[in-house]
Amino acid sequence: MLALRKATAAFGADLVHVDAPPSPGAGRVIIAVAAAGICGSDIHAFEWTPGYGFMTAFMPVTLGHEFAGTVRAVGDGVTALAPGDRVTCWPTVACGDCTACSADRPQDCQGRRVVGLHADGAFAQQVVVPAANCRRLPDDLPLAVAALAEPLAVAVNAVDVAEVGPGDRVVVLGPGPIGLSIAFVAQLRGATVLLAGLDDTARLDLARRIGIGGTVDLAGGSLEAAVRHAFGGEADRVIEATGSARSVVEGLAVLRSGGVLVVAGIHSGSLDLDLTGFVRSKKQLRAAHDTTARAFDEAIRLLAAHGGALAALITHRRPLAQAEAAFDLARSRQAMKVLLLPEGVARQEEG
Ligand SMILES: [Zn+2]
Ligand SMILES: [Zn+2]
Repeated sequence: MLALRKATAAFGADLVHVDAPPSPGAGRVIIAVAAAGICGSDIHAFEWTPGYGFMTAFMPVTLGHEFAGTVRAVGDGVTALAPGDRVTCWPTVACGDCTACSADRPQDCQGRRVVGLHADGAFAQQVVVPAANCRRLPDDLPLAVAALAEPLAVAVNAVDVAEVGPGDRVVVLGPGPIGLSIAFVAQLRGATVLLAGLDDTARLDLARRIGIGGTVDLAGGSLEAAVRHAFGGEADRVIEATGSARSVVEGLAVLRSGGVLVVAGIHSGSLDLDLTGFVRSKKQLRAAHDTTARAFDEAIRLLAAHGGALAALITHRRPLAQAEAAFDLARSRQAMKVLLLPEGVARQEEG
């Protein structure tokens, strides 16, 4: 079968033929992949930006962790799933026996492995995953839309970490798929949202089309002025999804005393912070990464309820054979979510 693999510690990835998995193994299932989204982490791994060196020990490894498909085979001991079930998957596999895992906090497991980063992922016609990580999908949720579950779950978790509540004034920095999803979820929770981008006309247009109430392109002015204009004062919450340390500094500057700033981007730089001012203002700086089982289930419910609006996040669909061109698209700011469709499987649904 065709697979997009990271084989060397350098820029790029290879589209190669590999053997299909022979049997799932105990507790695991083989999923025929219908759709798999290209994520920011896939782009980091592809471009080989700092912070992804850990992958070297697992290479060659097939990329792709945002996916949905149909169960093809189940291993010994799997009773909750059967061939033909339509599923998506939380790609984070916890170790199962550390302190965090024993305390039912698999999201805090430091030995966790991510399908598509540490183990073979879904940019292939088939992927093998633990059955426990799979979630069955509502019948009327298209598999392409269900492939948004993982990034949406990351967004739900970031909003959870920020403790966004009704009436909160929330600034979201970065209108990529995660930032836009964060804005969407925060708004559903009753917040007033301002989503900020920089030279991001196309993505901010898309944000307005899916119903984000407040958007601003900072090419035209400062974040401070935009927040004052939108909220008449400071923000209660700021959630950063840019990966730029400067945006964290700018975000703290528009946050009220006692407010919460959540860093959700992946950063290759470090933060220079005036600690005395930070302490006196009692601003709360938090980190959100990956997601939780609870947030993952909520993401599937949100897709079932708002799939029509959220489907607009999918701006491009490409066959797996065109993976390299698809990555070029995903790396441009013109695309929001680019889906790879492994041949033969997706066609029935995509038409
Ligand atoms: Zn991702
Ligand atoms: Zn663990």
